[in-house]
Amino acid sequence: MISKDTLIFRGQRNLMVECLRKDGITNADVLNAIAKVPRHLFVPKGFEMNAYENRPLSIGAGQTISQPFTVALQTELLQIRKFDKVLEIGTGSGYQAAILSEMRAEVYTVERIRDLYLNAKKLLETCNYTAYCFWGDGFDGRERFAPFRKILITAAIPEYPQKLLTQLAVGGRLVAPVGAGDRQTMTIVDRISETEFKQTTLETPFKFVPMLTGTVR
Ligand code: SAH
Repeated sequence: MISKDTLIFRGQRNLMVECLRKDGITNADVLNAIAKVPRHLFVPKGFEMNAYENRPLSIGAGQTISQPFTVALQTELLQIRKFDKVLEIGTGSGYQAAILSEMRAEVYTVERIRDLYLNAKKLLETCNYTAYCFWGDGFDGRERFAPFRKILITAAIPEYPQKLLTQLAVGGRLVAPVGAGDRQTMTIVDRISETEFKQTTLETPFKFVPMLTGTVR
């Protein structure tokens, strides 16, 4: 069966990790997680053989599973530690949530498209990854479970994520691609105190699918 983990998939995964290392990803925990999570289970059927190429793939509903480099970079920027409570906006395929779960974070992930939410939830359960999945509008965050030590946005948020920052713990960090159109700036916001935030941006532009309001049934 193609979906099962095989020596070939494992080999491809290791090669992908080497490529990510060459591209500048250095965090060993991130690379270990990428070496472990079977990305071929998170891509659409028929695309398993492309799962370990460094590119995004369509997952239906006009959405994509992010490029492995982007997943690796955002995860590295988050500086994940064991037991970090992490809110992810944009579950998509569930792959990023699986990486965070593999790193032993406590994952809360929100998706606005019901079918994607249902698929990801089922797949994460099947793979034994613990992640609390929600169907909803990520612009609202998850007030009930706040504060979060880390917040990760995996869709392009048009403006500085003011509202979501209220759900970030003091000492915590948010990583998000900010900007409308087809170029976003990877933005890192550290919450220094109740009222103080420090913003850092990366120079290289990124292209994410847009973060949209409301839910889709
Ligand atoms: N992290 C994903 C990549 C997802 S692409 C993965 O690992 O596969 C971005 C996702 O964000 C899409 O699935 C899209 O439907 C979702 N999205 C866009 N706007 C959203 C919103 N307001 N709330 C929650 N999810 C949103």
